[in-house]
Amino acid sequence: MILIVGGAGYIGSHVNKVLNEKGYDTLILDNFSYGHQELVQWGEVVEGDLGDGELLDRIFQEYPITGVMHFAAFTYVGESVTHPAKYYHNNTSNTLNLLRSMIKNKVRNFIFSSTCAVYGFPEKIPLTEDHPLDPINPYGRSKLMVEQMLHDFSQAYDFNYISLRYFNAAGCDPEIETGEWHEPETHLIPLILDAARGIRDKVSIFGTDYPTPDGTCIRDYIHVLDLASAHIKAMEYLEKNNKSQIFNLGNGQGFSVREVIECCRKVTGKNIQAVDEDRRPGDPPVLLGSSKKAKELLDWKVEWVELEDIITSAWKWHEKLYQELKTR
Ligand code: UDP
Repeated sequence: MILIVGGAGYIGSHVNKVLNEKGYDTLILDNFSYGHQELVQWGEVVEGDLGDGELLDRIFQEYPITGVMHFAAFTYVGESVTHPAKYYHNNTSNTLNLLRSMIKNKVRNFIFSSTCAVYGFPEKIPLTEDHPLDPINPYGRSKLMVEQMLHDFSQAYDFNYISLRYFNAAGCDPEIETGEWHEPETHLIPLILDAARGIRDKVSIFGTDYPTPDGTCIRDYIHVLDLASAHIKAMEYLEKNNKSQIFNLGNGQGFSVREVIECCRKVTGKNIQAVDEDRRPGDPPVLLGSSKKAKELLDWKVEWVELEDIITSAWKWHEKLYQELKTR
């Protein structure tokens, strides 16, 4: 049985769905601070907090957990700058709690949701796993500290991990059983889709003077189901090889903010208003990853190659979510 910490969130709920489809038993641990009950449709659930060491020990003693996937983190970069204590407490210190309990209860396989934010400003594109690590905000540092702990734990204890450095997760389950539901929403694609539905009157373009072809930031958008398949391959790799690894997970293609907005206009058929604004602090001009290592060692491949398909899957989910929220 796999313990999915934060399984009621965007990425965790998609991984939970795919694990169940593949025949795994899952147990979700979530405190529902940002996660949603509605997104937990597979496996068993325990409501609780990672700060609760007794609860963690109880879970490992009562359930036949063979591996842990850890998605429970705060991810708002701007908030991490104004409230760093919240990020170091939840993302770093609570993860230490979880790792301690795993060691104590002899659970050795751990998959960690890391981020391309651990790199900071890229010196070379595409980013590879050996690029220097110099995060530029507390969010990235809170995740890098966990990666450092993981390394030390794997040296000292009978413990193996895979750290997955995600680029920009996007898209939703095409069967629209789960999807992206952040409150507040700060991510580009859902904000554009809100503008398409008329929930917002416009979308802001943060920075138009970057050194990129159209002046807006370039990001690497990877479908959440491609992330999910990588998690399953990573867990299988740990079970087979007992070897810790770090992998980038990206699509390998870059799209500018303007290109993403244009693609959303095409997919939705709506006239989405976009306004140029100042840069958002802490945004590198280009984040683009090489996932060569994951493809080679995990035999993983990106199925959702086209941005248009990724956005179409997100649009379907956002329409459903909006209809449901409207009728509440
Ligand atoms: N962005 C934007 N307008 C928005 C939200 C985001 O122009 O309302 C830009 C942001 O500056 C970045 C890109 O879109 O260059 C992706 O941002 P997002 O917050 O989705 O993900 P991040 O790259 O911060 O993880």
